[in-house]
Amino acid sequence: MNNESEKFRQYAHQFVDWMADYMRDVEQYPVKSQVDPKEIYNQIEKVIPNESENIDEIFSDFKKIIVPGITHWQSPNFFAYFQANTSSPSILAEMLMATLGIQGMKWDTSPASTELEERMMEWLRDAMAIPSDWTGVIQDSASTSTLASIITAREQKSNYQVNKNGLNGYTNFRVYCSEETHSSVEKGVKIAGLGKENLVKVPTDDKLAMDSDLLLENIEKDIAKGYIPLCVIAAIGTTGTLAIDPLKKITQITEKYKIWLHVDAAYAGSALLLSEYQNLIVGLEHADSFVFNPHKWLFTNFDCTAYFVKNKDALVNTFSILPEYLKTKTDGMVNNHCDWGIPLGRRFRSLKLWFVLRNFGRKGLQEKLRHHIELAQWFESEVVKSPDFELAVPRSLNLVCFCYKPSILKNISLQEQNSLNERLLNQLNSTGNIYLTHTKVKNIFTLRMSIGQTNVEKSHITNAWELINETAKGIE
Ligand SMILES: *Cc1c(COP(=O)(O)O)cnc(C)c1O
Repeated sequence: MNNESEKFRQYAHQFVDWMADYMRDVEQYPVKSQVDPKEIYNQIEKVIPNESENIDEIFSDFKKIIVPGITHWQSPNFFAYFQANTSSPSILAEMLMATLGIQGMKWDTSPASTELEERMMEWLRDAMAIPSDWTGVIQDSASTSTLASIITAREQKSNYQVNKNGLNGYTNFRVYCSEETHSSVEKGVKIAGLGKENLVKVPTDDKLAMDSDLLLENIEKDIAKGYIPLCVIAAIGTTGTLAIDPLKKITQITEKYKIWLHVDAAYAGSALLLSEYQNLIVGLEHADSFVFNPHKWLFTNFDCTAYFVKNKDALVNTFSILPEYLKTKTDGMVNNHCDWGIPLGRRFRSLKLWFVLRNFGRKGLQEKLRHHIELAQWFESEVVKSPDFELAVPRSLNLVCFCYKPSILKNISLQEQNSLNERLLNQLNSTGNIYLTHTKVKNIFTLRMSIGQTNVEKSHITNAWELINETAKGIE
């Protein structure tokens, strides 16, 4: 065993050297992996090796086979989707987590995991102006949290009868979100047994935010037809364009009709650490649940989702289950987080949050977030100044949505313009120098520049803008 731990020490040191080099040199890899389908698969042995292979061999294959198939999400030239950031304190904590290898399902199975999690959720709640009587718990993803909200709403509304007897007699629930809401809502509605035909997608205004008048209209129409409005999902920062749904107006509707209101701020939630953006959630005290992902724009390795609820009893009543083999002496005296969501087993995720929040400090986090927003402001102003590009929607936080519309081709059709932009995007990504993705804004193919990687600096943005301009000129 001693020998085993010495071997581990030796390899771990070697790996840490690789990790530190990677973090230093990450910009030298093509941001988006340039491999073809099956290129990696075909290099992997077809069956499990019979004999033990040593770590040197496996590590060498990792570098040779795996790394070329990696898209480098931690590159400061990664502007695609939304960031899924790491940071050194988070990686260090992940190493400890992996070593401890605990399960934090019940208080007894590792009290520190439960109690640090309670404290971390209070830290975030209070720093982000989430109502002080709400309770937080870490989930594995925003998708799971939204599903938990829909199921909790279903149970509360049916007086826990669906959990008991199934959906019999409860086939007329309706859920509402905007046309721009994340696909996890539809997935959640399907999994919760409500049927996707009962998900009402409310049209959006010119900023792609939910039209609350149309929400009200849909709800009243549904009630007249005998449906039961169950849940509304409001997005504070949609995935396409970071559009902000009008929360306060929506709460007036959900309160009137006693509808569960879940707020999905998966990406943009981090901005609530900045006092100047806390107005984004004015009215949240009238909602029921809120989710955001520290594993996106808060420098914490995937996975780590912060889920907050107004009424924790409703959540626990929905998910708790107590078979004999899970009974402990402390039941009833402590929080057992396995009763607060879907999986039983739970990683020690609060540890990395603790390292990140302490090591950056609130000020350090605020500086990073403000810096990213300022970089996006600069990029936006360049787009506005350029005769060949235009904004698809006004910038929201650190996301700029723009398209190429060259002045010499003023009269091209929408179809031609979309095809031009699609070619520009593919061309940019094939350089390996930057990585962007797209969305559609009212049928217009739109490039998304999401500026939030942990270590992104002004030079990355000026280089990207130059590359975009040069590449655009070469597109026919
Ligand atoms: C990313 C995102 C999600 C999904 O997050 P996961 O943690 O990957 O499930 C949901 N909603 C919005 C608005 C998002 O940006």
